[in-house]
Amino acid sequence: MTRRIYLSVPHMSGTELQYVKEAFDSNWLSSVGPNLDAFEAAMSARLAGRHALAVSSGTAALHLILRYLGVGAGDRVAVSTLTFAGSVFPILYQGAIPVFLDSETESGNLDPALVEEYLAAAQRRGRLPRALIAVHLYGQHCDIDSIAQICRNYGVALVEDAAESLGATYRGRQTATTADFAALSFNGNKIITTTGGGMVIARDENAIATMKKWANQAREPAIEYRHSEVGYNYRMSNVLAGIGRGQLEVLDDRVAARRRVAMQYADALEGTGLRLQNEAAWGTHSRWLTVMYLDPAETRVKPLDLVQSLAAYDIEARPVWRPMHQQELFKDAESIGGAVADELFATGICLPSSSSLTDADLDRVISAVRETLARSPVEAPL
Ligand SMILES: *Cc1c(COP(=O)(O)O)cnc(C)c1O
Repeated sequence: MTRRIYLSVPHMSGTELQYVKEAFDSNWLSSVGPNLDAFEAAMSARLAGRHALAVSSGTAALHLILRYLGVGAGDRVAVSTLTFAGSVFPILYQGAIPVFLDSETESGNLDPALVEEYLAAAQRRGRLPRALIAVHLYGQHCDIDSIAQICRNYGVALVEDAAESLGATYRGRQTATTADFAALSFNGNKIITTTGGGMVIARDENAIATMKKWANQAREPAIEYRHSEVGYNYRMSNVLAGIGRGQLEVLDDRVAARRRVAMQYADALEGTGLRLQNEAAWGTHSRWLTVMYLDPAETRVKPLDLVQSLAAYDIEARPVWRPMHQQELFKDAESIGGAVADELFATGICLPSSSSLTDADLDRVISAVRETLARSPVEAPL
């Protein structure tokens, strides 16, 4: 019997339990307390003094941001097509219409040239989106300065979906500090976790105060329960914030470990037809997940073949996100380009990437990948 190797698992440092114990000992077991304050303050310190609001999920964080930006029924919001659905659902919560934009080949993220093309056309038709959500895919930053300049030219608000990129940098700056608003996720599979949770990161303190009120059932500052607008129960608990405090202390270690995993795969699998996703010159990839691409010129194995084969070795792998324009839910949605995302989806695979993987685990994955690829060589040309 072997131990199953998962795609990406929580990796506690030990300190988390101390903060959780403090919450129990002091009976701060609800949605206010010292762990929440300290977690937000520590994140703020890490992220260039940006203001932080801990919430129940990354999806909730994005929802709060879109509402704050005034996104409403019938508005358009542009977003990367190559992403997880959590980037897009908050657009629907606001009754708005997603417009999907294709990737560039350098980082797999939003293509600035396409953003320019799309916004120019949208302006001509009087249909500019209210906002654009730029996703930093798998821990790699998009070329945000280029995108931000274009958004400024057209007066479109820019939001970073940094759910996958905490710990990554862009031109020496931390992710989630390169636009006015960003969302983080601490879901169980992310680079650091609170079991489930998220954060709003914003430049403007008043924006955070407004979103905090909405996340807290939109209670007005009055003892006798006054409400003048719709709210949500999006708060994070002080217990979970204790986990977040401990996790944030080891973020740099976790990034280093994940980057090491990616490099080990790249070295060991060289020449097999699997190529590590590029690290764009503009930043440091956190390698939240190791993404590799199968070169059809070198192997006939497709991502799903490899996923299935690895499952037989008790190893979990996943294809790259299925682009949003390929989803049943969005079959009628407006989509600008899509061929690059289609290609990345058709050839990309995410290998086990946990920061807690041992060398023995990595050897097991590498051998299983090698054996699978060796079984299916490209046929010699006639
Ligand atoms: C995980 C993720 C989300 C959603 O975060 P949750 O905390 O799971 O709600 C949003 N966008 C991207 C790109 C993600 O990977």
